[in-house]
Formats: sequence, structure tokens, C-alpha cells
Amino acid sequence: MSSVTSADVIVLGLGGMGSATAAHLARRGATVIGFDAFEPGHANGSSHGETRIIRKAYFESPDYVPMLERAYQLWHDLEAESGQELLTINGALNIGSAESGFVTGAARSAREFGLNVEELDASDVRKRFPGFQLPENLVALFDPEGGFLRPERCTAAHLESAHQHGATLRFNEPVLEWGSDGDSVFVRTATERITAGKLVITAGPWSKNVIAGWDAPLVVWRIVNVHFGSTAAQRFAPENCPVFLMEVPEGHYYGFPALPGQGVKIGRHDIGAVTTPDTIDREVRENEIVMLRNVLDTYMPGASGPVLRTLTCMYTNTPDHHFVLDHHPAHDNVVVGCGFSGHGFKFASVIGEILSQLALDSESQLDIGFLATGRFSKELR
Ligand SMILES: Cc1cc2nc3c(=O)[nH]c(=O)nc-3n(C[C@H](O)[C@H](O)[C@H](O)COP(=O)(O)OP(=O)(O)OC[C@H]3O[C@@H](n4cnc5c(N)ncnc54)[C@H](O)[C@@H]3O)c2cc1C
Repeated sequence: MSSVTSADVIVLGLGGMGSATAAHLARRGATVIGFDAFEPGHANGSSHGETRIIRKAYFESPDYVPMLERAYQLWHDLEAESGQELLTINGALNIGSAESGFVTGAARSAREFGLNVEELDASDVRKRFPGFQLPENLVALFDPEGGFLRPERCTAAHLESAHQHGATLRFNEPVLEWGSDGDSVFVRTATERITAGKLVITAGPWSKNVIAGWDAPLVVWRIVNVHFGSTAAQRFAPENCPVFLMEVPEGHYYGFPALPGQGVKIGRHDIGAVTTPDTIDREVRENEIVMLRNVLDTYMPGASGPVLRTLTCMYTNTPDHHFVLDHHPAHDNVVVGCGFSGHGFKFASVIGEILSQLALDSESQLDIGFLATGRFSKELR
């Protein structure tokens, strides 16, 4: 155990976002102590499961595009620093009706930022990406800059970078309590009380309980992913099959091409059972597998062979499904990053930078006003 008992900044939670925050803080020369309740890269939170989609023509809002530009750059920097491949660019297909939010939202972001995208009708998609057999009433917006990240590698690379730049990282050591008197903060674990100038809370699905003093409007969903061994591996290989998002009558789905040993992975994005990280049901049931298999059978025939693997994970949703990146409403020296609503991982590299700037400079260089806590003011106590 480290004997360090004070720091410039404490990072509470070293998952996808906290590992990046610790890295950015340490690179800037701040003394950093980070805590996590579990071991590095654990599968109890929201950042496990081998793959995460990244895309630039962002259907959720054009406001995210500048953050995405910076996120891509920082992922490439992290690849150079770590010597590892973290990011695979094989395109992203936003599929839906011509009026769907997935298609019109992505087109809007592309238009506003001059992004290179291609509008495809169902027959264009069939010719170009034979793994997808869409009915004539569906179209797709192809984002050539889309692809996927390797989340476990990304988090490990951020942790290693933080460590190399002098951060003290403590695992299997939950923070039991924290407080702020305005000038300084403290955290208490089972064995120690540590003080610092600033605290960054990146507690993922635990955030609602951890962020004391603000009744954060967060709801945690249980999400199931299933990996199917495809019966036509080449058709669904990354070079032939982009990552995909589908807004179809069956719901909103996303998925990944067949990676060696992992098959095609698919999950549902628009519904989940409300849960908590301490009570989540980790058993994946047959009806959940059948729902996902049926979607593949309808739109990607041949993709849904035998089940290779199932997993559960958690979304931490805000009411508007946009993130929270801000100072704590009651404590200026506490910064919160939470509510990533099932689409945060692709931003982890830039969110680490933003949270480090909020902690060290009080403000972010990027425009994050749309992610402030104040938009939930009615929910404030
Ligand atoms: C199935 C699934 C698929 C997804 N797909 C995508 C995708 O394709 N693209 C995308 O961009 N995003 C995706 N997301 C969302 C993305 O993965 C999350 O937004 C992101 O991983 C959240 O990171 P986090 O750091 O907030 O949470 P976590 O990585 O869970 O980190 C929180 C950490 O805080 C620690 N912690 C909590 N309480 C304490 C405490 N008291 N003391 C110490 N440590 C504590 C936890 O142990 C944990 O390590 C997906 C999410 C899921 C579940």
C-alpha cells in the first residue's frame, strides 16, 4: 500500500473515464491518487466486453462532434504511447427509415460539420455490405470514420500512462466516504483518510450513491450483449461488415462484425431493466438471446449461429441521455463525470482531458455547456 496521504487531485473510480482522467492529470504534472473498488479492468461496471463503437456523424447531437474530433486524436496518441492497437476503423452504418432519428440525426451532424458520409438505400447496402439484407423501406447513412475500440486495452493503457506519469493507483479499495470544506477534499477508505485539493468522481453506475449532496437524476439499466458464431464468417468480417446501429420496428440495436473467436456481437440500446450495480441479475435468459437472434435473422441472415458468449453490463442514463460533465452543484472543488447513457466509451479519451481541465483549470477548453448539471435544476434538492 502507498504511504501517500495527500495529493493535488483524487480520482474516485478508475474505469473507462477515471483511468483517462488520472492519465491526463498525471501527464500535466499533478500529483494524483486514484481509487477503485475492484481490480483493474474488472467486469462489474460499464467498460468491459471487448468492443465499443466509435463514430463521428453523431445522431445524438452535433454538439458532440468537436468532442469526437478530439477523442479520435487522443485515441491515436494513446495508441502511439502504448504501442497497442486500440482503434479499428471499418465504418459505421446508421440504419433506419429515412425519417428515423439514427439516420436524420447522423446526417445533421455530418451536414453541420462537413463530415464525409454516404447515403445508401437498401439495395446499395446489399451490394456494398452483403451481410446486411435490409427491406426496401430502410436506408443507411455510412460513416467511414466509424469503427470500434478495445475497451479493456484502452483502460489498461490509460492506467499505465497514469502510472508512468507518477499517479498512485489503488485497487480493491472502495472509497467509503468523501467530503469537501471548499478549500480541500478528503476521501476515506477502510484503512485511510486522504486529503487533496480537488476530487473527480467517475463512479460509473455507482454514481448516484457516490455523488453525495446532489440528487443526480440517474437511472441504471441492465443491458445484455450476445456473441453469435456466424455461419458465414467472411461476410461478417470487419473488412466487409461495418459496426452497425439499427432503428427498426423491433427496437434500437447496435452491433459489431465477427472478430476472431468472438463472432458477431449485438445488444439492444433502447430498453433495459432498471437495476443497481449491487443487485444486477447477471444471468442471461433464453428469451433475451432469442430477441437478439431474431433481429440478426431479419436484417443480417447468417450472422446468428451458435451462442459463443453472453454478458451483462450497465447503462447509467440521464433523463435526456446526454452526459454530465461539470463541477458538483454544491462543491466547486469536486468534479463529476457520469450519466454516460450507454454511449460514453468512445469519448473516454477526451472526457479524461475535460475532467482534468475542470479540476486543474476550472473550465474545459471544449464547449460542454450542454452537459452541465444545471439543465436538471428542477431535480436539484
Ligand atoms: C453493453 C454496453 C455496450 C456499450 N456500448 C458502447 C459503445 O458501443 N460505444 C460507446 O461509446 N459506449 C458504449 N457503452 C457505454 C460505455 O461503455 C460507458 O458509457 C462507459 O464505459 C462508462 O464508463 P465509466 O468510467 O463511467 O464507468 P465504469 O467503467 O463502470 O467505471 C466506474 C468505476 O468506478 C468504480 N467505483 C464505483 N464506486 C466506487 C467507490 N465507492 N470507490 C472506488 N471505486 C468506485 C467502479 O469500480 C468502476 O471501476 C456501452 C455500455 C454497455 C453497458
